Amino acid sequence: MAKSPKEYCSFCGKPSSEASLLIAGLHGNICDTCAEQAYTIVKDSNPQAKNNKGDFNISKNELPKPVEIKEFLDQYVIGQDEAKRYLSVSVYNHYKRLLQNVTTDDVEIEKSNIIMVGSTGTGKTLLAKTIARLLKVPFTIVDATVLTEAGYVGEDIESILTRLLQVADYNVEAAQRGIVFIDEIDKIARKGDNPSITRDVSGEGVQQGLLKLLEGSVVNVPPQGGRKHPDQKLIAVDTKNILFICGGAFDGIEKKIAQRLNTMVVGYAASQANVNINKENLLQYISPQDLKSFGLIPEIIGRLPILTYLNPLDRDTLRNILTQPKNAIIKQYKKIFEMDDIKLTFEEEVYDYIVDKAIEYKLGARGLRSISEDIMIDAMFHFPSTGERKLNITLEYARERVEKSEAKQRSVA
Ligand code: ADP
Repeated sequence: MAKSPKEYCSFCGKPSSEASLLIAGLHGNICDTCAEQAYTIVKDSNPQAKNNKGDFNISKNELPKPVEIKEFLDQYVIGQDEAKRYLSVSVYNHYKRLLQNVTTDDVEIEKSNIIMVGSTGTGKTLLAKTIARLLKVPFTIVDATVLTEAGYVGEDIESILTRLLQVADYNVEAAQRGIVFIDEIDKIARKGDNPSITRDVSGEGVQQGLLKLLEGSVVNVPPQGGRKHPDQKLIAVDTKNILFICGGAFDGIEKKIAQRLNTMVVGYAASQANVNINKENLLQYISPQDLKSFGLIPEIIGRLPILTYLNPLDRDTLRNILTQPKNAIIKQYKKIFEMDDIKLTFEEEVYDYIVDKAIEYKLGARGLRSISEDIMIDAMFHFPSTGERKLNITLEYARERVEKSEAKQRSVA
């Protein structure tokens, strides 16, 4: 007797009694196993579906031009034009490299890793994070301070790539075209001129390891990060096309720059040139030599050909940071209150007061947030329950809140 098509999978012929699920269609059925297989086939044959966890495809038409990249950065990061320009061009060229057909092109565009030097809190990480919003490649930020030479407490250099793999949802091909921001690169500088006295486990050894990544090589990466161990399955990642952006405060490098500028100055012409040197902001004269004097090995410096700097934040810049960026601190507070239908306003003097305090605390832009928080915390707690619709923060109120918080800190100290 003919089988009733209703009770069998139309693809593999399995009877319904053997399948855990049989999905009925108009003219046939499909069992759960066949449905799963069909899904895999569809996924593998369709690149769009392959990337459904993050679209890392780039086409030439949608490439943002350097000017556009900078304009985007301008919305979030105040000043730092020089660093923005370098960053925009590097990212743009990175894309071009990725689009290049290496087999037919005779001129191969070389990778240009970047190093940004600037005091803490001047916007290095912010720049990197902001550019990441625009990117169509996997991007991650790692901290160089946790890295140590293999065999010591800390993390293996290869773990830098673990994060990138995770962001790329373990799509190795996508990770191999990604961008890694290595923060606090200055912390792996050689500590002294004589490394043999004490072993420098987080210094030169780490630099040698990092060099391997920067140069471009196939690296075995522990998928879960941390330390490699023998039973772990490793993932091979080629770093040839990964762009590395490094950032560091390089505390004290100004002295090395000043020394170099001084020794350079011999004779009349040179002393004329010296007259124009802005001693307030020596970082703008930074050169690869200074990085070497600071303790980076020449090979690493050679692999970070684009060297740029961030300006220290002056009064005006701090004031602008407080109110101007798209997600400026003040705008954020206004938004928070607006959600409760409360119109929040500030006396202009409050902004100057916050800036003065941030300068006094020597916390740079980071201080703006904590001082604002001191001022706003009580209002954020009480005001939504009062039913009032308007709140104006006066200088007197701001001063009172900050002084109260200072008194509290003093009593703890
Ligand atoms: P860095 O990495 O240089 O130590 P960050 O980028 O982490 O400093 O900056 C700390 C905070 O200060 C950021 O979250 C941001 O709010 C603010 N900030 C610093 N510099 C700027 C800037 N140029 N424009 C806007 N905000 C800034």
